Amino acid sequence: MDKPIRIALAGNPNCGKTTLFNALTGTQQYVGNWPGVTVEKKEGRVRGQKDVTVTDLPGIYSLSPYTLEEVVARNYLIEERPDVILNIVDGTNLERNLYLTTQLVELGIPVVIALNMMDLVNREGDTINTAELSRELGCRIVEISALKGTGIDEAVSACVEAANGTKTVPQHSFSGSVEHALAHIEESAVHDLPEEQQRWYAIKIFERDDKVLSKLGLAPATLAHIEEDIKAAEKELDDDAESIITNERYVYIAGLMKGCYRKKNKSRLSVSDKIDRIVTNRILALPIFALVMWLVYWIAMGPFGSFLTDWTNDVFGGEWLEGGTRALLESWGAAEWLTGLISDGIFHGVGAVLGFVPQMLVLFFMLCLLEDCGYMARIAFIMDRIFRRFGLSGKSFIPMLVGMGCGVPGVMASRTIENERDRRMTIMTTCFIPCGAKMPIIGLIAGALFGGSGLVAVSAYFIGVAAIIVSGIMLKKTKMFAGDPAPFVMELPAYHAPSMGNVLRGTWERGWSFIKRAGTVILLSSIVLWFLQGFGTVNGRFGMVDELWDENDTAYIAEVADRMGVDADDVTAADDSILARAAQPVSVVFKPLGYGSWKPTVATVTGLIAKEEVVSTFGILYNYDAKAEQAVDEETGELLFDEDGEPVMEELDEEGAQIWANVEDDFNRTSGGHGKLAAYAFMIFNLLCAPCFAAMGAIKREMNSAKWTWFAIGYMCLLAYAVAFMVFQIGKVFAGGVSVIGLIIALVLLAFLIYQLFRPYRESQKLEIRQ
Ligand code: GDP
Ligand code: MG
Repeated sequence: MDKPIRIALAGNPNCGKTTLFNALTGTQQYVGNWPGVTVEKKEGRVRGQKDVTVTDLPGIYSLSPYTLEEVVARNYLIEERPDVILNIVDGTNLERNLYLTTQLVELGIPVVIALNMMDLVNREGDTINTAELSRELGCRIVEISALKGTGIDEAVSACVEAANGTKTVPQHSFSGSVEHALAHIEESAVHDLPEEQQRWYAIKIFERDDKVLSKLGLAPATLAHIEEDIKAAEKELDDDAESIITNERYVYIAGLMKGCYRKKNKSRLSVSDKIDRIVTNRILALPIFALVMWLVYWIAMGPFGSFLTDWTNDVFGGEWLEGGTRALLESWGAAEWLTGLISDGIFHGVGAVLGFVPQMLVLFFMLCLLEDCGYMARIAFIMDRIFRRFGLSGKSFIPMLVGMGCGVPGVMASRTIENERDRRMTIMTTCFIPCGAKMPIIGLIAGALFGGSGLVAVSAYFIGVAAIIVSGIMLKKTKMFAGDPAPFVMELPAYHAPSMGNVLRGTWERGWSFIKRAGTVILLSSIVLWFLQGFGTVNGRFGMVDELWDENDTAYIAEVADRMGVDADDVTAADDSILARAAQPVSVVFKPLGYGSWKPTVATVTGLIAKEEVVSTFGILYNYDAKAEQAVDEETGELLFDEDGEPVMEELDEEGAQIWANVEDDFNRTSGGHGKLAAYAFMIFNLLCAPCFAAMGAIKREMNSAKWTWFAIGYMCLLAYAVAFMVFQIGKVFAGGVSVIGLIIALVLLAFLIYQLFRPYRESQKLEIRQ
């Protein structure tokens, strides 16, 4: 019986590891295009093979210890020592990919090269002499296309063979003085290690790799002895040890390329290059990016998207699900409070969120499409070129692009930034981008209050981007964050037709996590909210406010109206609920933003649990008072009473429309008639303020400091408040209804912001590299 075989997939970012992993194992890992997405390694069993497992390592360019990915991948290779390394090499980027290969073959583990993207190489008509390359590198090479699924089985059998055969022995040697030093090192320092591992360790010691040095714990005398050898080589070659090794590798690879690679037509640009000439053009790049994102948001969130959501809410949710359940509960004679809880609490809370699922899937579908075809990768690149002038690195935009799905992986993607200050700044700003969960808020405001305005929805996205850019520029000018931007290298994968499998998988994965939250967190808090807004103390008696409430007790109603600061006409039973009493004092804070009443305040707070909660909270709170409408006889126009003389209550027209009309009324009331403006300010505040707890947790983990976490959250809330304040106060000027003090403060704020943007930079300081 054969021994179990462990294959490790190693390769550059974007060379197709995850695609190959999925093809090998038949699993459905998400194929991300971002550095930092696959930091953890994943394991799976190879289909159709007994006892062969495969591990997908993070994408790396080299085995140096400078990034998290490199450390994870390298530790796995040297500590766990897989039986064979399947090195995936992107055939369209041979030269750069081989840099890693030259290091992998030194590890003393059998290496098989899977020469990937052969479909593209062949299409371009380029030729790679694999036989020659294989001889030079001393390992087997199999041509594959992970995407098209060709050559996969051959790759597996090559791996199995190699694992049972001999180790790969590197054919390449460095220049004389380096080899001389290496020989000394091997003899004095790593003699006790297994023979096949000695060379790799010797090279790392030569490079003065701290991690290896501290792991080996060499005696000071040995170290001093080695140092002499290294110094001698450095002197002779007039460079530092690490650069010597790097350069010699490149020279070696250049030689390999000459012998083994023919580009069909050197001057001919590939299709991908041609597209890039337009899409990453210095002048056109930004307008094209803006146009693309505008289209995406317009389609998902504009008239088409709100049509989808309306249909889901009204027909699917309202009529079928809720109507059906309500009828069922009534036929069972369920208690009134239970019917209320299920219908007004759960259906309106969870339902309001679920209604956005189709719209969200449309948005995610388009984002995945852009990502898979390779466009998204260009955005970070375009941004880098422009914002380098402001001292920002394109690396800071990758978390933002990831954050369009969810802020948590977005914040985590900031790990790839080595410069501590840039990393902190990026963590602070990533959550400004509207994530999937904020989408319902945008949909709610744009769809329900602005009649499906695509413009409002699109503006929400661009406000997020602007918040990131403005914050970046402002923060960079403070002493805390000053410094030169880190260099940014990112592989731009060739454009290719998106694979529907990848796109649908990505769309579904993101959509599903949304649905899961609706069924758990949001369900639970909807129930809690329903109780909190349904129970309270009316006139000194505790119970269900609806039952204790007396429409005719005008004296008491006036008292409540006074406490809530509203007209007696606007008072409802819910104003006496526990929730209203708790939130009312806090709501004062939001008065200057135009929505200082308890319901939006509760929504903002519950939004911290998960941003979708803003919408579910609206669904519960605003629906509640909508029901108290007496039915009218259609012919005579008279109010209807039943046999006992009790008024007949009627469901108001469509559920959705009714809720949103209530929302608009409330916003109109608190903003002195500027309901739409207040609603817009509400949206801005909720998009930019502190993110949900999960994202705050991610911020805390990544900042690894309570002080910085609070600073980040405080900054977000402050900026959100300032922007919403300016929008409402300055917006009122155009709507006719200025409040002088508000306007003055808003203008001062605006002037301060502009000053921050344009004041000169502090002298830049040296880069601080995270170890
Ligand atoms: P990873 O970063 O190494 O895990 O690479 P991925 O598996 O995420 O692949 C990066 C991109 O290259 C994806 O968009 C894949 O669809 C694409 N890709 C992978 N293998 C091939 C291939 O053989 N041919 C072509 N044309 N595209 C590929
Ligand atoms: Mg991957």
